[in-house]
Amino acid sequence: MDIKPVFEKKAGQPIIIAGPCSAETEGQVLQTARELAAQGNIAAFRSGIWKPRTRPGSFEGVGTEGLAWLKRVKAETGLKVTTEVAKAAHVYDCLKAGIDVLWLGARTTVNPFSVQEVADALNGADVPVLIKNPINPDIGLWVGAIERIYKAGITQIGLIHRGFSYHGETIYRNVPRWQLAIEMKRRFPDIQILVDNSHICGRRDLLADVAQEGMDLNFDGIMTEVHPRPDEAWSDAAQQITPATFKSLVDNLKVRQSTSENPVFIGQLTELRRQISEIDDELVGMIGRRMRLAEQIGEYKKDNNIAILQPDRWQHLIDEFTQKGSVQGLSEQFMQSFLRAIHQESIDHQEAVMNSKVV
Ligand code: PEP
Ligand code: MN
Repeated sequence: MDIKPVFEKKAGQPIIIAGPCSAETEGQVLQTARELAAQGNIAAFRSGIWKPRTRPGSFEGVGTEGLAWLKRVKAETGLKVTTEVAKAAHVYDCLKAGIDVLWLGARTTVNPFSVQEVADALNGADVPVLIKNPINPDIGLWVGAIERIYKAGITQIGLIHRGFSYHGETIYRNVPRWQLAIEMKRRFPDIQILVDNSHICGRRDLLADVAQEGMDLNFDGIMTEVHPRPDEAWSDAAQQITPATFKSLVDNLKVRQSTSENPVFIGQLTELRRQISEIDDELVGMIGRRMRLAEQIGEYKKDNNIAILQPDRWQHLIDEFTQKGSVQGLSEQFMQSFLRAIHQESIDHQEAVMNSKVV
């Protein structure tokens, strides 16, 4: 695939998309756009026209009428404009209105039928498309959406990381699970990836930290929801901020360089990485040794017809492991997922021994 950038990237500056969650009135759209344009660093103005709401009865967007407002934004401020499309009719309306960039929302990326419908409508068009991650952490769906849009002849494609829905205790609206976005960067090294801190956070007080984390991980920019009167917003009120608050968020962002030519820094980094590689070698060797022991246990269990999983022993291991980890400053969450991965591998090895299978 030969994917082209959606936005021009200026050294040391993030790519910024900002604007309200939803276009509500022409006045609200224009006021937000004027205040953002004055900041001088906005790559595109966002505004949802068709809103995919989880439950019926919420504000579902102003519809096609809002496209005229975006056209006015473009004419008056010179900002590029972008909106979400989820159906063929949305694509046709946007192309007719000259919308500069289209985006696929999380609830669209998750559904190959919808992605294909949008891709078919885009066939032959020359418009950049941003693809949000699917609502669930399924990287295949995200990749599949890129492939469907690319096959329709669209080459300017970018990604938006907006977090993943999660059932459980979390401070986020959608947990970031950065590793999935990092994996997309590994698979598509040239694709621009923006961090939608608004939909990850769901609340204002976390926005700056998540945007900074995006910069620290070398993502290309941010997409943030901005509203002149956030508390009165017709959708996503809790996560929207005023243009002034947004300006200070951006002003305080530290953009990191990808590399450095400084020989002292390079020397220090090389040495520390060498030490890390040594430790990794030891780690892998130790895990291998642990598996050989698990296999021996598997042999004894087989001879004595004992089940692999011993719940008491497993609980004991979790407690001991997290306790030891906390002494080393390692989080409980990390220790548990690390131990679970090792435990699953041990189970697979014991299964193989007990049932004479190959792992
Ligand atoms: C949005 O950008 O307003 C939106 C609906 O986002 P998502 O598709 O990420 O939920
Ligand atoms: Mn929103």
